[in-house]
Amino acid sequence: MTQHKDHYLTLGVKRTATPEEIRKAYRRLARKYHPDVNPGDKAAEEKFKQITEAHEILSDQAKREIYDQHGAYNQNIHNQRQQAPGGWSGFPPDFNWNIDPERAGGGGGVRNLIDELMKNMRTQAEAKAQPRAGTNIELALSLSFEEAINGLTKNITIKRSEPCGVCHGSGESTDTQVSCAACSGSGKVSTGGGFLSINRDCSDCHGTGRKRSHCPSCRGQRLIPKAEAIKVRIPAGVDTGSQVRLVGKGNIGIHGGPPGDLMIVTKVSPHPIFTRKGDNIHCTIPITLPEAALGARIEVPTISGKAQLRIPPGTQTGQVFRLREKGAPSLRSQTRGDQYVEVKITLPTIIDEDSKTLLREFARRNPENPRSELGLGLE
Ligand SMILES: [Zn+2]
Ligand SMILES: [Zn+2]
Repeated sequence: MTQHKDHYLTLGVKRTATPEEIRKAYRRLARKYHPDVNPGDKAAEEKFKQITEAHEILSDQAKREIYDQHGAYNQNIHNQRQQAPGGWSGFPPDFNWNIDPERAGGGGGVRNLIDELMKNMRTQAEAKAQPRAGTNIELALSLSFEEAINGLTKNITIKRSEPCGVCHGSGESTDTQVSCAACSGSGKVSTGGGFLSINRDCSDCHGTGRKRSHCPSCRGQRLIPKAEAIKVRIPAGVDTGSQVRLVGKGNIGIHGGPPGDLMIVTKVSPHPIFTRKGDNIHCTIPITLPEAALGARIEVPTISGKAQLRIPPGTQTGQVFRLREKGAPSLRSQTRGDQYVEVKITLPTIIDEDSKTLLREFARRNPENPRSELGLGLE
C-alpha cells in the first residue's frame, strides 16, 4: 500500500515548488529514465515508476494537498473530498494515465497498474527491436534428366531483398516531411483500452507528429529486390521435388537478424528413353525374335554410356534384366541405384518367299499351342 515517500525529493524539487517547476522536473527525469530509452534497465524502470508516481500526486492540486497534510496520498480521502471522481487530471501531455479509480482500486492498485503497464510497454519495446531472421527465397530450378543424375554447378540469378541504396534502409526521404500517419499528426497514440488506456508518444514519429516522407526509390519499403548472380552446386542424384538449401542466401534479416536461406527446388525434365523410380532407372529395349529365341549379347543405353546385356535363350517379351549400379547416385548414401531393362520382342516383317518357307518349316518342326491353357485347340 501507499508508503511514506518523499515525492518532492524524488522529483528533486522544493516543497514550495510551483506546478510549472514540478512539471519541468518530471519531464526532465522522465526523458532520462523512460523505459524506451533504457531497455532492460530495471533500476531505471523503478526510478521511472517513482517519478511517475510522485508527479502524478504533486501535479494534481487536490492530491498534493492530501499528500502535504497526511505525508501520503490516500485515495479514500481523495474520494471523500471529490464528490465525483471522474478521472485524475494534471498529467503531463506526453504521458497520460486514464485510470478509473473505482475499478482500479485503492492506492496499492495504482502501484499494481503501473507494474502492469510497465510490463506491457517493455514487451512492446522488446517485440519491436527483436532481431528477426530474413525470409527464405524459394526458387524452382529446371534440370535435364542427365543433369539431375550427374549433378552440376549452375549460375543462376536470384532477387534478394537488400537495404535500399538511396535511403540506406531507413525508408525515408531525406528532405520532404509529411504528417505522421500512425498518430494522424498528433504525436500521441493510445494503447490499451477500457478503463485502462495510456496516451504516449507515437513511436513512429517520436512524438513530433511529423515524419519524413517515403523514400522515392523504395517507396518506404526499406528493402528493394536486387538481382544477384550466384553459383549453385546441385548434387548428383536430385529428382523432381528435391530441395537444395543455400544457408544465408535468402533475404536479409531485420534488426540485425540473420539472413534467410535460398531454397532451390529442382524439377527434372522427362527423358525420351529413361524414367526414374527413386534411385533406379527404367527403360524398355526392343529385341528381335532370333535374339530372344537363341540368346544374344546386346548393347543397351545407360545414363553413363552404352553397356552390354546378355539376353539368355528363350527370353520372353516383358522380361526385366537388372544392370547393377547403373541408376542414379543416392543422396543419402554412397550407393547408386540400378537400371532395369525390360525387353520387348519385335517381330520381323517377312515379305520374301524364302523367309516365309523357312518360317513354315520352323512351325512344322516346333508344333506348340500357346492357348492350350485357355482350353483352346489349334486349327
Ligand atoms: Zn506519429
Ligand atoms: Zn529507400
